[in-house]
Amino acid sequence: MLKNSKVYVAGHRGMVGSAIVRKLKAEGFSEIITRTSKELDLRSQAAVEQFFTEEKPEYVFLAAAKVGGIQANNTYRADFLYDNLMIEANIIHAAYITGVEKLMFLGSSCIYPKLAPQPLREDYLLTGELEPTNEPYAIAKIAGIKLCEAYRDQYGCNFISVMPTNLYGYNDNYDLNNSHVLPALIRKFHEAKEAGATTVTVWGTGSPMREFLFADDLAEACFFLMQNYDGKELVNIGTGEDVSIKDLALLVKEVVGFEGSLEFDTSKPDGTPRKLMDVSKLHSLGFKHSTELREGIALAYADFRNKLVEV
Ligand code: GDP
Repeated sequence: MLKNSKVYVAGHRGMVGSAIVRKLKAEGFSEIITRTSKELDLRSQAAVEQFFTEEKPEYVFLAAAKVGGIQANNTYRADFLYDNLMIEANIIHAAYITGVEKLMFLGSSCIYPKLAPQPLREDYLLTGELEPTNEPYAIAKIAGIKLCEAYRDQYGCNFISVMPTNLYGYNDNYDLNNSHVLPALIRKFHEAKEAGATTVTVWGTGSPMREFLFADDLAEACFFLMQNYDGKELVNIGTGEDVSIKDLALLVKEVVGFEGSLEFDTSKPDGTPRKLMDVSKLHSLGFKHSTELREGIALAYADFRNKLVEV
Protein backbone atom coordinates (compact mmCIF):
# COMPACT_ATOMS: atom_id res chain seq x y z
CA MET A 1 0.00 0.00 0.00
CA LEU A 2 1.16 3.51 -0.79
CA LYS A 3 -0.14 6.59 0.97
CA ASN A 4 -2.25 7.48 -2.07
CA SER A 5 -3.62 3.94 -2.57
CA LYS A 6 -7.40 3.60 -2.46
CA VAL A 7 -8.11 1.62 0.68
CA TYR A 8 -11.58 0.38 1.57
CA VAL A 9 -12.19 -0.37 5.26
CA ALA A 10 -15.37 -2.43 5.55
CA GLY A 11 -16.89 -2.00 9.00
CA HIS A 12 -15.30 1.37 9.78
CA ARG A 13 -17.79 2.22 12.50
CA GLY A 14 -16.98 -0.85 14.54
CA MET A 15 -14.27 -1.14 17.14
CA VAL A 16 -11.83 -2.84 14.76
CA GLY A 17 -12.62 -0.90 11.60
CA SER A 18 -12.43 2.45 13.38
CA ALA A 19 -9.04 1.50 14.82
CA ILE A 20 -7.78 0.56 11.33
CA VAL A 21 -9.02 3.90 9.92
CA ARG A 22 -7.23 5.74 12.76
CA LYS A 23 -4.03 3.88 11.96
CA LEU A 24 -4.27 4.59 8.20
CA LYS A 25 -4.89 8.28 8.89
CA ALA A 26 -1.95 8.40 11.29
CA GLU A 27 0.22 6.89 8.52
CA GLY A 28 -0.89 9.65 6.12
CA PHE A 29 -3.24 7.66 3.87
CA SER A 30 -5.39 10.07 1.91
CA GLU A 31 -7.84 7.84 0.02
CA ILE A 32 -9.67 5.85 2.66
CA ILE A 33 -13.07 4.68 1.45
CA THR A 34 -15.84 3.90 3.93
CA ARG A 35 -19.60 3.32 3.80
CA THR A 36 -22.06 3.08 6.66
CA SER A 37 -24.43 0.11 6.69
CA LYS A 38 -27.25 2.49 5.73
CA GLU A 39 -25.32 3.62 2.65
CA LEU A 40 -24.26 0.11 1.65
CA ASP A 41 -25.90 -3.13 2.81
CA LEU A 42 -23.00 -5.57 2.61
CA ARG A 43 -25.45 -8.49 2.60
CA SER A 44 -26.68 -7.39 -0.84
CA GLN A 45 -24.59 -8.85 -3.64
CA ALA A 46 -25.83 -6.34 -6.23
CA ALA A 47 -25.09 -3.36 -3.99
CA VAL A 48 -21.60 -4.62 -3.11
CA GLU A 49 -20.69 -5.32 -6.75
CA GLN A 50 -21.90 -1.89 -7.81
CA PHE A 51 -19.89 -0.24 -5.03
CA PHE A 52 -16.68 -2.08 -5.99
CA THR A 53 -17.20 -1.38 -9.70
CA GLU A 54 -17.70 2.34 -9.06
CA GLU A 55 -15.06 2.90 -6.38
CA LYS A 56 -12.41 0.42 -7.53
CA PRO A 57 -10.58 0.09 -4.19
CA GLU A 58 -7.02 -1.26 -4.47
CA TYR A 59 -6.75 -2.60 -0.93
CA VAL A 60 -9.49 -3.95 1.33
CA PHE A 61 -9.61 -4.54 5.08
CA LEU A 62 -12.62 -6.81 5.64
CA ALA A 63 -13.49 -5.85 9.22
CA ALA A 64 -17.26 -5.80 8.75
CA ALA A 65 -19.13 -8.52 10.61
CA LYS A 66 -22.07 -9.16 12.84
CA VAL A 67 -20.38 -9.68 16.21
CA GLY A 68 -21.35 -10.15 19.83
CA GLY A 69 -20.66 -11.95 23.06
CA ILE A 70 -21.56 -15.42 24.18
CA GLN A 71 -25.25 -14.71 24.71
CA ALA A 72 -25.79 -12.82 21.44
CA ASN A 73 -24.00 -15.54 19.46
CA ASN A 74 -26.08 -18.22 21.08
CA THR A 75 -29.40 -16.39 20.64
CA TYR A 76 -29.20 -14.93 17.14
CA ARG A 77 -27.71 -18.05 15.59
CA ALA A 78 -29.30 -17.62 12.16
CA ASP A 79 -28.31 -13.94 11.91
CA PHE A 80 -24.72 -14.64 12.90
CA LEU A 81 -24.40 -17.32 10.23
CA TYR A 82 -26.36 -15.66 7.41
CA ASP A 83 -25.17 -12.07 7.78
CA ASN A 84 -21.52 -13.03 8.08
CA LEU A 85 -21.58 -15.49 5.17
CA MET A 86 -23.21 -12.91 2.92
CA ILE A 87 -20.87 -10.07 3.90
CA GLU A 88 -17.75 -12.17 3.28
CA ALA A 89 -18.92 -13.84 0.09
CA ASN A 90 -20.05 -10.55 -1.45
CA ILE A 91 -16.91 -8.60 -0.61
CA ILE A 92 -14.41 -11.33 -1.46
CA HIS A 93 -16.07 -12.10 -4.79
CA ALA A 94 -16.40 -8.40 -5.70
CA ALA A 95 -12.74 -7.90 -4.81
CA TYR A 96 -11.85 -10.71 -7.21
CA ILE A 97 -13.94 -9.48 -10.14
CA THR A 98 -12.76 -5.88 -9.80
CA GLY A 99 -9.09 -6.84 -9.47
CA VAL A 100 -8.38 -5.71 -5.90
CA GLU A 101 -4.62 -5.75 -5.30
CA LYS A 102 -4.78 -7.24 -1.81
CA LEU A 103 -7.50 -8.06 0.71
CA MET A 104 -7.22 -8.85 4.41
CA PHE A 105 -9.96 -10.93 6.01
CA LEU A 106 -10.35 -10.74 9.78
CA GLY A 107 -11.41 -14.00 11.40
CA SER A 108 -11.62 -14.79 15.09
CA SER A 109 -10.03 -17.03 17.71
CA CYS A 110 -13.39 -18.81 18.17
CA ILE A 111 -12.92 -20.63 14.85
CA TYR A 112 -10.56 -23.12 16.52
CA PRO A 113 -11.89 -26.39 17.94
CA LYS A 114 -13.33 -26.11 21.47
CA LEU A 115 -10.90 -28.59 22.94
CA ALA A 116 -7.83 -27.89 20.81
CA PRO A 117 -4.47 -27.95 22.61
CA GLN A 118 -3.42 -24.56 23.97
CA PRO A 119 -1.99 -22.24 22.87
CA LEU A 120 -3.92 -22.35 19.60
CA ARG A 121 -1.72 -22.77 16.57
CA GLU A 122 -2.88 -21.73 13.14
CA ASP A 123 -2.77 -25.33 11.88
CA TYR A 124 -5.35 -26.54 14.46
CA LEU A 125 -8.11 -25.17 12.26
CA LEU A 126 -10.70 -27.85 11.40
CA THR A 127 -9.18 -30.53 13.62
CA GLY A 128 -12.17 -30.90 15.98
CA GLU A 129 -15.65 -29.86 17.12
CA LEU A 130 -16.43 -26.18 17.62
CA GLU A 131 -17.74 -24.51 20.77
CA PRO A 132 -21.57 -24.84 20.42
CA THR A 133 -22.44 -21.34 21.71
CA ASN A 134 -20.70 -19.64 18.79
CA GLU A 135 -20.68 -22.36 16.16
CA PRO A 136 -22.71 -20.37 13.58
CA TYR A 137 -20.33 -17.40 13.79
CA ALA A 138 -17.30 -19.70 13.65
CA ILE A 139 -18.63 -21.57 10.61
CA ALA A 140 -19.13 -18.26 8.80
CA LYS A 141 -15.61 -17.11 9.69
CA ILE A 142 -14.12 -20.45 8.57
CA ALA A 143 -15.98 -20.01 5.26
CA GLY A 144 -14.35 -16.56 4.91
CA ILE A 145 -10.89 -18.04 5.42
CA LYS A 146 -11.61 -20.79 2.90
CA LEU A 147 -12.90 -18.24 0.38
CA CYS A 148 -9.62 -16.32 0.64
CA GLU A 149 -7.63 -19.53 0.20
CA ALA A 150 -9.77 -20.71 -2.73
CA TYR A 151 -9.61 -17.40 -4.62
CA ARG A 152 -5.84 -17.45 -4.09
CA ASP A 153 -5.56 -21.06 -5.35
CA GLN A 154 -7.90 -20.73 -8.31
CA TYR A 155 -7.40 -17.12 -9.38
CA GLY A 156 -4.11 -16.09 -7.82
CA CYS A 157 -5.68 -13.36 -5.64
CA ASN A 158 -3.51 -11.94 -2.85
CA PHE A 159 -6.16 -12.43 -0.14
CA ILE A 160 -4.81 -13.04 3.38
CA SER A 161 -6.54 -14.02 6.63
CA VAL A 162 -5.68 -12.99 10.16
CA MET A 163 -7.17 -14.31 13.40
CA PRO A 164 -7.58 -11.74 16.15
CA THR A 165 -8.05 -12.90 19.72
CA ASN A 166 -10.76 -11.36 21.99
CA LEU A 167 -10.60 -7.60 21.53
CA TYR A 168 -11.55 -4.51 23.51
CA GLY A 169 -10.94 -0.79 23.15
CA TYR A 170 -12.49 2.42 21.83
CA ASN A 171 -16.01 2.26 20.35
CA ASP A 172 -16.74 -1.08 22.00
CA ASN A 173 -20.27 -2.40 22.51
CA TYR A 174 -21.41 -1.94 26.12
CA ASP A 175 -24.86 -3.52 25.81
CA LEU A 176 -25.04 -5.94 28.72
CA ASN A 177 -26.92 -8.64 26.83
CA ASN A 178 -24.93 -8.59 23.61
CA SER A 179 -21.44 -7.49 24.52
CA HIS A 180 -18.28 -9.40 25.26
CA VAL A 181 -17.07 -9.88 28.80
CA LEU A 182 -14.64 -6.97 29.12
CA PRO A 183 -16.97 -4.11 28.15
CA ALA A 184 -19.75 -5.80 30.16
CA LEU A 185 -17.56 -5.84 33.26
CA ILE A 186 -16.46 -2.22 32.77
CA ARG A 187 -20.09 -1.16 32.64
CA LYS A 188 -21.24 -3.38 35.52
CA PHE A 189 -18.49 -2.19 37.89
CA HIS A 190 -18.98 1.44 36.88
CA GLU A 191 -22.74 1.33 37.44
CA ALA A 192 -22.34 -0.55 40.72
CA LYS A 193 -19.87 2.07 41.93
CA GLU A 194 -22.18 4.93 40.93
CA ALA A 195 -25.18 3.27 42.58
CA GLY A 196 -23.25 2.41 45.75
CA ALA A 197 -24.07 -1.29 45.24
CA THR A 198 -22.27 -3.96 47.26
CA THR A 199 -21.95 -6.77 44.68
CA VAL A 200 -21.40 -7.24 40.95
CA THR A 201 -22.55 -10.39 39.16
CA VAL A 202 -20.10 -12.13 36.86
CA TRP A 203 -21.46 -14.78 34.48
CA GLY A 204 -20.35 -18.38 34.71
CA THR A 205 -17.86 -19.86 37.16
CA GLY A 206 -15.06 -17.33 36.63
CA SER A 207 -12.66 -20.13 35.72
CA PRO A 208 -12.55 -19.86 31.88
CA MET A 209 -9.31 -18.37 30.58
CA ARG A 210 -9.32 -15.64 27.94
CA GLU A 211 -6.73 -13.53 26.13
CA PHE A 212 -7.44 -9.85 25.40
CA LEU A 213 -5.90 -7.51 22.85
CA PHE A 214 -6.39 -3.75 22.68
CA ALA A 215 -8.07 -2.95 19.33
CA ASP A 216 -5.49 -0.29 18.41
CA ASP A 217 -2.77 -2.93 18.76
CA LEU A 218 -4.78 -5.14 16.42
CA ALA A 219 -4.95 -2.26 13.92
CA GLU A 220 -1.15 -1.87 14.15
CA ALA A 221 -0.76 -5.59 13.47
CA CYS A 222 -3.19 -5.52 10.53
CA PHE A 223 -1.36 -2.58 8.98
CA PHE A 224 1.97 -4.33 9.51
CA LEU A 225 0.76 -7.58 7.89
CA MET A 226 -0.90 -5.77 5.00
CA GLN A 227 2.51 -4.28 4.24
CA ASN A 228 4.65 -7.31 5.02
CA TYR A 229 2.79 -10.62 4.68
CA ASP A 230 1.55 -12.31 1.51
CA GLY A 231 1.17 -15.91 2.68
CA LYS A 232 -1.74 -18.31 2.30
CA GLU A 233 -1.57 -19.49 5.91
CA LEU A 234 -3.51 -17.71 8.65
CA VAL A 235 -1.73 -15.49 11.15
CA ASN A 236 -2.97 -15.33 14.75
CA ILE A 237 -3.00 -11.88 16.32
CA GLY A 238 -2.96 -11.78 20.09
CA THR A 239 -0.78 -11.15 23.10
CA GLY A 240 0.05 -14.77 23.89
CA GLU A 241 -1.00 -14.16 27.53
CA ASP A 242 -4.30 -15.05 29.16
CA VAL A 243 -6.18 -14.45 32.40
CA SER A 244 -9.09 -16.15 34.19
CA ILE A 245 -12.46 -14.40 34.05
CA LYS A 246 -12.28 -14.08 37.83
CA ASP A 247 -8.89 -12.34 37.72
CA LEU A 248 -10.11 -10.17 34.86
CA ALA A 249 -13.11 -9.13 36.97
CA LEU A 250 -10.78 -8.29 39.90
CA LEU A 251 -8.62 -6.17 37.58
CA VAL A 252 -11.59 -4.27 36.14
CA LYS A 253 -12.91 -3.76 39.69
CA GLU A 254 -9.61 -2.21 40.67
CA VAL A 255 -9.31 0.04 37.59
CA VAL A 256 -12.90 1.27 37.99
CA GLY A 257 -12.51 1.66 41.76
CA PHE A 258 -15.45 -0.47 42.93
CA GLU A 259 -15.14 -1.45 46.58
CA GLY A 260 -17.73 -4.25 46.85
CA SER A 261 -17.53 -7.99 46.12
CA LEU A 262 -18.09 -10.37 43.20
CA GLU A 263 -20.71 -13.08 42.83
CA PHE A 264 -20.84 -15.71 40.09
CA ASP A 265 -24.05 -16.60 38.22
CA THR A 266 -23.42 -20.20 37.21
CA SER A 267 -26.72 -20.38 35.32
CA LYS A 268 -24.88 -18.48 32.55
CA PRO A 269 -22.60 -20.44 30.19
CA ASP A 270 -18.82 -20.52 30.59
CA GLY A 271 -18.25 -21.18 26.90
CA THR A 272 -14.95 -22.65 25.83
CA PRO A 273 -12.60 -23.35 28.79
CA ARG A 274 -9.56 -21.65 27.30
CA LYS A 275 -8.80 -19.66 24.17
CA LEU A 276 -5.17 -18.60 24.04
CA MET A 277 -3.44 -17.85 20.76
CA ASP A 278 -0.02 -19.10 19.78
CA VAL A 279 1.51 -15.87 18.50
CA SER A 280 4.95 -17.23 17.60
CA LYS A 281 4.32 -16.72 13.88
CA LEU A 282 3.28 -13.07 14.40
CA HIS A 283 6.33 -12.48 16.59
CA SER A 284 8.65 -14.14 14.10
CA LEU A 285 7.27 -11.88 11.35
CA GLY A 286 8.38 -8.96 13.54
CA PHE A 287 5.29 -7.73 15.38
CA LYS A 288 4.47 -7.60 19.11
CA HIS A 289 1.56 -5.86 20.89
CA SER A 290 2.36 -2.79 22.97
CA THR A 291 -0.62 -2.12 25.28
CA GLU A 292 -0.72 -4.19 28.48
CA LEU A 293 -4.09 -5.29 29.88
CA ARG A 294 -4.33 -2.93 32.86
CA GLU A 295 -3.35 0.08 30.74
CA GLY A 296 -5.78 -0.91 27.98
CA ILE A 297 -8.65 -1.35 30.45
CA ALA A 298 -7.95 2.13 31.86
CA LEU A 299 -8.05 3.59 28.30
CA ALA A 300 -11.27 1.74 27.47
CA TYR A 301 -12.85 2.84 30.76
CA ALA A 302 -11.94 6.49 30.04
CA ASP A 303 -13.55 6.14 26.58
CA PHE A 304 -16.67 4.59 28.16
CA ARG A 305 -16.96 7.52 30.57
CA ASN A 306 -16.45 10.10 27.80
CA LYS A 307 -19.25 8.52 25.81
CA LEU A 308 -21.52 8.73 28.87
CA VAL A 309 -20.84 12.47 29.06
CA GLU A 310 -21.64 12.91 25.35
CA VAL A 311 -25.06 11.19 25.57
P1 GDP B 1 -16.56 -15.87 24.49
O1 GDP B 1 -15.11 -15.52 24.60
O2 GDP B 1 -17.00 -16.18 23.10
O3 GDP B 1 -16.95 -16.96 25.46
O4 GDP B 1 -17.42 -14.57 24.81
P2 GDP B 1 -17.59 -13.54 26.04
O5 GDP B 1 -16.55 -12.48 25.97
O6 GDP B 1 -19.00 -13.06 25.95
O7 GDP B 1 -17.45 -14.37 27.37
C1 GDP B 1 -16.24 -14.79 27.90
C2 GDP B 1 -16.41 -15.40 29.27
O8 GDP B 1 -16.74 -14.36 30.22
C3 GDP B 1 -17.53 -16.44 29.38
O9 GDP B 1 -17.06 -17.47 30.24
C4 GDP B 1 -18.65 -15.66 30.05
O10 GDP B 1 -19.56 -16.48 30.77
C5 GDP B 1 -17.84 -14.77 31.02
N1 GDP B 1 -18.54 -13.58 31.53
C6 GDP B 1 -18.57 -13.19 32.82
N2 GDP B 1 -19.35 -12.11 32.98
C7 GDP B 1 -19.79 -11.76 31.75
C8 GDP B 1 -20.63 -10.71 31.28
O11 GDP B 1 -21.14 -9.88 32.03
N3 GDP B 1 -20.85 -10.66 29.93
C9 GDP B 1 -20.28 -11.57 29.07
N4 GDP B 1 -20.53 -11.44 27.75
N5 GDP B 1 -19.51 -12.60 29.50
C10 GDP B 1 -19.27 -12.70 30.81
